[in-house]
Amino acid sequence: MNISILGGGIGGLSTAIALKQAGFDVEVYERHSQPIEIGAGIVCWPNASFVLAQLGLLDKVAELAGPVIAMNRFCSSGESLGSLNIDELNRLMKYPSYSILRKDLMKILTQRSVELNINIHYQHTVRSLFNNSGSVYVQFSCGKVIEADIIISADGRRLYVTENNSPIYQGSVNWIGVFETDTALFTELSVADYWGVGERFGIVPVSKTKAYWAGGVTAEHTGEIKPERYKSELSALFSHWSGLIEQVINETPLSRIHQVYVHDHDPIDCWHKDNVLLLGDAAHAPLPTSGQGACQALEDAWHMTQCLTDNSNDIEKAFRQFTSLRIAKTSGITLGGRHLAAAIFNNDSSFCKQRNLASKSTNYNEVVAGMAKGWSNGLPIGV
Ligand SMILES: Cc1cc2nc3c(=O)[nH]c(=O)nc-3n(C[C@H](O)[C@H](O)[C@H](O)COP(=O)(O)OP(=O)(O)OC[C@H]3O[C@@H](n4cnc5c(N)ncnc54)[C@H](O)[C@@H]3O)c2cc1C
Repeated sequence: MNISILGGGIGGLSTAIALKQAGFDVEVYERHSQPIEIGAGIVCWPNASFVLAQLGLLDKVAELAGPVIAMNRFCSSGESLGSLNIDELNRLMKYPSYSILRKDLMKILTQRSVELNINIHYQHTVRSLFNNSGSVYVQFSCGKVIEADIIISADGRRLYVTENNSPIYQGSVNWIGVFETDTALFTELSVADYWGVGERFGIVPVSKTKAYWAGGVTAEHTGEIKPERYKSELSALFSHWSGLIEQVINETPLSRIHQVYVHDHDPIDCWHKDNVLLLGDAAHAPLPTSGQGACQALEDAWHMTQCLTDNSNDIEKAFRQFTSLRIAKTSGITLGGRHLAAAIFNNDSSFCKQRNLASKSTNYNEVVAGMAKGWSNGLPIGV
């Protein structure tokens, strides 16, 4: 069986690796000319670490990543709003949590793909998918047309499967960056998450000297991306905030800052049509506040491979099994991401005061237990 994967990001490459290791013939088509370095970092929560272990990549990730032990919440003045014990989350889910730069995760996935002789066709931008006499074809901008037994859309779009193809702008803009220093600033690898009124700044250490960060603010409309303004915009918003925020902004080179107007996708009921299947963000893009986008793309890779291995003579059945296994969990994560975003990116100061008070009195042990239960769902791990 020949499988073409459109999009060589986290979902596309991890799926290619999982399928190839299970004996399937896969090809990947990616619009960029080489592995992309854009993006800051991600936390591979224990559910993602489980998948990385199944792919044989968890040791490689551990070499380049940092073991996250806590997530501490603060208000903008630095007052504590509570803390999530990530060691406990890891214990409950039986796998570690790792913070890693996106470029390092992509490097690991790319290297493994190369070792497995997976063909990654760079500079192949998908233009359209079309059905001709019962067969589905992919047309690329360069003019090339391919067909395959299975086409997996892992390019963040819902082409062919649904007309509901547009991501939804969710009213906030993020600046993301990678900060490195010579001094050991991060003595313990705890995420620092600062909440303001309609504003948020998070710092995620990857090592004692390196962290990725994201600053976000509500924005009614999307706007032009103007890199020359990043520093002044960030300073105006966050330089008076507590902790290391000002230093992190000042000392991050402009070349390592990017701006993203934040979108997600509405959950949909069906992720496949004919021999085309959506996977990763294309099927279920959540907001960054979910903290689970990449983790869910990795979970897709593992589940998809199991479903196809069990039903290699019946693609339709494999697709149905995959979507029924995945839809409830990923929809819950998408809606959870929106719920948290509505509380964090809220411009009403009295709401934010109440939110902070509620956070201070939250039983975070219960929150961690709930996260462990939800994120383990569908996987042979943890609680
Ligand atoms: C600001 C921000 C912060 C985030 N933080 C986290 C986090 O902390 N934890 C987490 O788990 N997730 C996080 N995410 C989400 C995570 O990055 C995505 O959910 C994850 O990368 C999904 O994997 P994917 O393969 O579907 O998409 P991607 O990794 O984005 O890959 C899609 C690939 O398709 C390619 N492509 C696109 N269009 C075409 C085309 N027409 N033709 C060919 N190729 C194409 C792209 O170049 C890309 O390589 C964050 C996202 C954002 C925006």
